[in-house]
Amino acid sequence: MDFKLSDEQREFVSVVRKACQKEFAPRAIKYLDGTWPAENMKRLAEIGVLGMSVPTEYGGSGLGILDTVLVLEEIGKVCYVTAMAVLGEVGVQCRIISTYAPESIKQKILPRVATGEAILAICMTEPNAGTDVPNYTTNTVIKGDRIVINGRKTLISRADIAEMFVVFTRVDSVPGAKGIGCVLIPGGVKGLVAEPKYHTMGGEYLSEVQFNDIELPLENLVIRSDGMKRMLNAFNTQRCLNPAICLGLAEGAMEEAVKYLRDRSAFGHPIGDFQGMRWKAADMYIQIEAARGLLYRAAVSGEQFPDPMLAAMAKIYCNEMSIRVTSEAIQVHGGYGFTDEYPVSRFFRGTRYGSLGGGTSETLRNLIGKKIVTDMDLATGVAGMGTF
Ligand SMILES: Cc1cc2nc3c(=O)[nH]c(=O)nc-3n(C[C@H](O)[C@H](O)[C@H](O)COP(=O)(O)OP(=O)(O)OC[C@H]3O[C@@H](n4cnc5c(N)ncnc54)[C@H](O)[C@@H]3O)c2cc1C
Repeated sequence: MDFKLSDEQREFVSVVRKACQKEFAPRAIKYLDGTWPAENMKRLAEIGVLGMSVPTEYGGSGLGILDTVLVLEEIGKVCYVTAMAVLGEVGVQCRIISTYAPESIKQKILPRVATGEAILAICMTEPNAGTDVPNYTTNTVIKGDRIVINGRKTLISRADIAEMFVVFTRVDSVPGAKGIGCVLIPGGVKGLVAEPKYHTMGGEYLSEVQFNDIELPLENLVIRSDGMKRMLNAFNTQRCLNPAICLGLAEGAMEEAVKYLRDRSAFGHPIGDFQGMRWKAADMYIQIEAARGLLYRAAVSGEQFPDPMLAAMAKIYCNEMSIRVTSEAIQVHGGYGFTDEYPVSRFFRGTRYGSLGGGTSETLRNLIGKKIVTDMDLATGVAGMGTF
């Protein structure tokens, strides 16, 4: 399998890399207190990153999943908070809007996403049901050509500044997974309350969001009930983007570890001379390369959306690999690794998000395990094709 990048891809990534290394890295630490990385987002809009998932007719570049993975990987190498902010613009919410929203909403919001003026939020998690989507209680009632939404969501990123909320909701109280649809709620609408509530170990704040008798036109209900399957397809894209950030964090940590292995001395030698340290470097690199291979393969695996099995496997592997690699990078730094003096502790904190958001590792293992036990063709065996 050949992942040779085109000249355009290389050029685009190198522009992003320059901004990341020169501008974003030095100020990354200041976002740990929940400060929104406004200056980085402005710069990324200028470069064209924020419009990557916006179709060309709405002012974006409509680039593919691999391009988006490459860019998030670069940003992840220096700043988790910025990478997460970008994920909010190029991720599943933008894809749901550009695939399912009516023309009037697309024209209004998508060009503003590309320029960085409109921030998007996605609301799935509820106080009493996160992974347990079939038990969501947020409900949308259809009343002629209007809809009325009531409910509560929690742990929501960017809700305090979002211009559009992509909300998973039950429709007309239909129970179970079949009853779940999706509604678009403009920020600032009457009945919407969004308040930052939780400060995360990664740096950002997450909000609690209330929908109190919010009334909107019927066209804002972009996916009626029984739309879960279609929405989950869009989520396979997210399952390639979340791990791209983790891959970047691991790479950033490894690069820092290599510098330290060369610069720090003990017992009259650079610590990189010790076999115990070299083995750490080797293990970090092996895991990063394995993760990258799996992730890139998942990213190019589907026509519109990635293969579900490959996306799930890539997500679990990158998420868990990044925790191991960043933790080892801290170990290489000794006690300084635990301080804010070096960025490795920040990288480690960021990685912990990966296996929680966008489908927990446990949920994805359920999916992969079920598929293996029920569907694997033993005539072909473990063919390594991911999809069967
Ligand atoms: C930084 C960050 C940003 C986030 N941003 C958003 C956002 O913008 N929008 C949004 O909607 N949500 C967001 N979330 C929330 C995230 O999506 C949820 O935390 C996640 O879906 C898990 O839900 P939960 O926390 O309710 O855990 P629960 O669903 O309660 O799960 C608790 C534990 O039980 C396990 N578990 C549950 N069911 C099973 C099962 N069947 N088999 C095995 N194990 C199981 C889970 O894997 C987990 O380990 C964010 C979270 C974080 C950390």
